[in-house]
Amino acid sequence: MKFGGTSVADAGRLRAVASLAKARAGSGVLLVLSAFSKVTDGLFAAGRAAVGGDEAEALSLLQKMIERHRAVASELLGVGRAELPEAVESAIAAAEADLGAVLKGAALLRALPERSLDILAGRGELLSTAILAAFMGAPWIDAREVMRTDSRFGSAKPLTGEIRELASKRMLPLVGPGMIAVTQGYIGADTSGAPTTLGRGGSDYSASLFGAALGASEIQIWTDVEGILTCDPRVVPTARPVELLGYDEAAELAAFGAKVLHPATILPAIELGIPVTVRNSMVPDGRFTTISRESASGQPVTALASRGPVTVITVRTPRMLGGAGFLANIFEAFGRRGVSVDLVSTSEVSVSATVDGNDGVDELAADLAELGDVRIMRDRAVVALVGERLLKTPGVPAKALGALSDINVEMISLGANEINLSLVVERGQAAEAQRRLHAAFFE
Ligand code: ADP
Ligand code: ASP
Ligand code: MG
Repeated sequence: MKFGGTSVADAGRLRAVASLAKARAGSGVLLVLSAFSKVTDGLFAAGRAAVGGDEAEALSLLQKMIERHRAVASELLGVGRAELPEAVESAIAAAEADLGAVLKGAALLRALPERSLDILAGRGELLSTAILAAFMGAPWIDAREVMRTDSRFGSAKPLTGEIRELASKRMLPLVGPGMIAVTQGYIGADTSGAPTTLGRGGSDYSASLFGAALGASEIQIWTDVEGILTCDPRVVPTARPVELLGYDEAAELAAFGAKVLHPATILPAIELGIPVTVRNSMVPDGRFTTISRESASGQPVTALASRGPVTVITVRTPRMLGGAGFLANIFEAFGRRGVSVDLVSTSEVSVSATVDGNDGVDELAADLAELGDVRIMRDRAVVALVGERLLKTPGVPAKALGALSDINVEMISLGANEINLSLVVERGQAAEAQRRLHAAFFE
């Protein structure tokens, strides 16, 4: 059971998490927690302040974070702030000392190497779990001793074979029938023991990696919405829960920007066929989404997602006509610059590709200019329609484009997996595009 930031925001929410876990402890539960809501953001903000030379601001953000944890722990455990149990006190004191040192160092050097940033960014999870484990009297497992990763700090890749071995040794004995253990999402350690993180929102991914490593019967993602909805409710307030989703559909939605799931969450579950459910910790008996091998939606369009900013790069050259090897040359240039290609669409004389954000685009454009005329469109967004029967149902693209009528669609890509229709629009129009598509397909 993974609980995200809003589900562990304060003492009241932590109490709710504890009773939810106890009510479901029948076959054993591993609780995977995020940091309290906004704590990770605050840690990054403190890091930025330090790098900007504002040590006072950085340390004051750290103090606020420390105070918040003391206050929550003392309320939850019903003891004074000076009487916190040893495990909680030492976790908080260590955070204060370690992060104080990291921030002072960063302020001095005006730099925060990714390696140190991960020590900072991952600390919220260590604190939230120390507090809940103390409240529940449950074993606390240091995820850094199980979540083995490579050394790409900030977006480390899990080493699944080692994780499986470590999980059977260190976790499995603590999650037998009726037992509950508590561990952290988001964080891990590389083979030398240096702390790493899986990237923002990575707790979902941690939960599914641990779930797969333990051969769990279900991976539950508890959040603040009733499952995966037909669209981001912040964009379309009338979006409604989707009851059933196939692995492909869920993976596609996550990859195309549905923040409710980290993009890699589904992968570990697929191999073992473990169902993933997405549930609302505020409404535990409410509606929820089941993602499994059997539960493909059967819908032409199941949900919408959007991601941005993206940049569209178009290379046009008459030499492409009937020539061989141009695409290879073009993509080789992307590879050389380490720019990852997302959507692609080609004509006889041109090829367009989208890339996330704007990093490295200017250098890449200079390289591509040797191959043809290059056009760059920045500040765009991808709006994706995802559905199991999308390409098997006549009329979906026509309906989508019809709904957008006066919104200019600058690029169209039909996913090769036949469940995704992606449209590129100006970023400022992405929300309106989703509202129109939602009205056309769901209302
Ligand atoms: P947590 O802290 O539990 O990990 P997140 O904020 O990461 O929660 O993810 C939940 C949020 O994802 C929701 O509150 C919602 O705003 C957003 N979201 C985006 N797309 C969707 C979608 N299709 N369905 C549900 N929620 C979505
Ligand atoms: N706390 C981390 C973050 O805010 C991981 C997570 O919440 O999934 O990104
Ligand atoms: Mg999240």
